[in-house]
Amino acid sequence: MEHKISTEIFKKAEKYIPGGVNSPVRAFKSVNRKAPIFACKGKGAKIWDEDGNEYIDYICSWGPLILGHNPENVINGVREAIEMGSSFGLPTKMEVELAELITKCCPSIEKVRLTTSGTEATMSAVRVARAYTNRNKILKFEGCYHGHSDSLLVKSGSGLLTDGYQDSNGITDGVLKDTLTVPFGNISAIKTVLEKKDVACLIMEPVPANMGMIYPDVKFLKEVRELCTSTGTILIFDEVISGFRLALGGAQEFFSITPDMTTLGKIIGGGYPVGAFGGKAEIMDLIAPVGRVYHAGTLSGNPVSVRAGYETISYLYNNRETLYKTLEEKTQYLVNNIKELAAKYNVPACVNTIGSLFTIFFTERPEVNNLEDALSSNTENFAIYFNTMLEDGIVCPPSQFEAHFISMAHTKEDLDKTLLSIEKAFKVIGEKNNGK
Ligand SMILES: *Cc1c(COP(=O)(O)O)cnc(C)c1O
Repeated sequence: MEHKISTEIFKKAEKYIPGGVNSPVRAFKSVNRKAPIFACKGKGAKIWDEDGNEYIDYICSWGPLILGHNPENVINGVREAIEMGSSFGLPTKMEVELAELITKCCPSIEKVRLTTSGTEATMSAVRVARAYTNRNKILKFEGCYHGHSDSLLVKSGSGLLTDGYQDSNGITDGVLKDTLTVPFGNISAIKTVLEKKDVACLIMEPVPANMGMIYPDVKFLKEVRELCTSTGTILIFDEVISGFRLALGGAQEFFSITPDMTTLGKIIGGGYPVGAFGGKAEIMDLIAPVGRVYHAGTLSGNPVSVRAGYETISYLYNNRETLYKTLEEKTQYLVNNIKELAAKYNVPACVNTIGSLFTIFFTERPEVNNLEDALSSNTENFAIYFNTMLEDGIVCPPSQFEAHFISMAHTKEDLDKTLLSIEKAFKVIGEKNNGK
């Protein structure tokens, strides 16, 4: 497979953009490639790069594209919205419709504010939680990612892990001091921290998916909920990935656990820039102009993005009886076969899955339940996997520490083709391990 044009564009990109990319994982550095592929078109489960290569896509824009690339309903809605105007700096009716739909899908959200990204959603939710509790400190889990605002970039997942570190430079000691971290799943560590009653909020991905995907213990989630209640700590579920993906109501519906606040992103914009944060009305009414917590945005609730989100979520809502089951069946089919192939070719691997997400951790450990487990993975084996797949026309996340995303557009044929390539990759890894 030729990547000549992508490589040329990347050379130019490196000259004008730091690292040649606008988000670090895109650089394909951790999978030993000199250049990423430059995408130019997507339709359904497929994407095409600038060299004209076709791929089955398992990045799916890192989550938003649960219906695949450019579904007709979204394109049509967006076209209609664009014709009416790009942005007004005034409220529009569709924002209200989307807000109502969000509260219908996710009943713990009584009131909601729209943002332009997940980063803004989590950043603003934390601010509201601090105001509500009159406390400064926040607690998060090692390896969870909540966007790139200062206070949440401590022991962070996603692109930082991919590049081999967890804390960003450029953050003040004051901010670092106020962000506490504990390992995911460690209830006694959480208890010790929260019992001091000086933590405003515990923010968590209920299903961590930014250190690779971790399946949470439901008992742990329940204990977290109880500890937050008993210590007056706001529980924020960051459902930027899990929202509308595990179920219409996200992980909180899937596990029947009600957070105080929720942050949303990715799917909520259907591939366009949208985020949201919401929760109990009593908490959300602290926001200006009702209260004195400031949140704003020139493009917050942008009509084009909001329409894309509305079309996507309406589709999910109208098809909720079958859609999530279908997605899960597709994923199970793939994952069960991957596990068999790993055993057949003697590849040390632990495959975590939930709903339409999965991660193949190339580790000897039987289970991956937290960051320490995830970091035991052999990233060289992951790179072999990634590159074999790419050369075979399949784009996987270019990092061991991310999840694969399956969309409604992935067909049985796509999955079978994927499995053939995985078999190739596992054969190479297996032979390497057995010293052949
Ligand atoms: C992607 C992500 C974010 C950040 O969203 P952006 O739109 O990239 O700013 C926050 N939290 C989680 C769990 C995410 O996966």
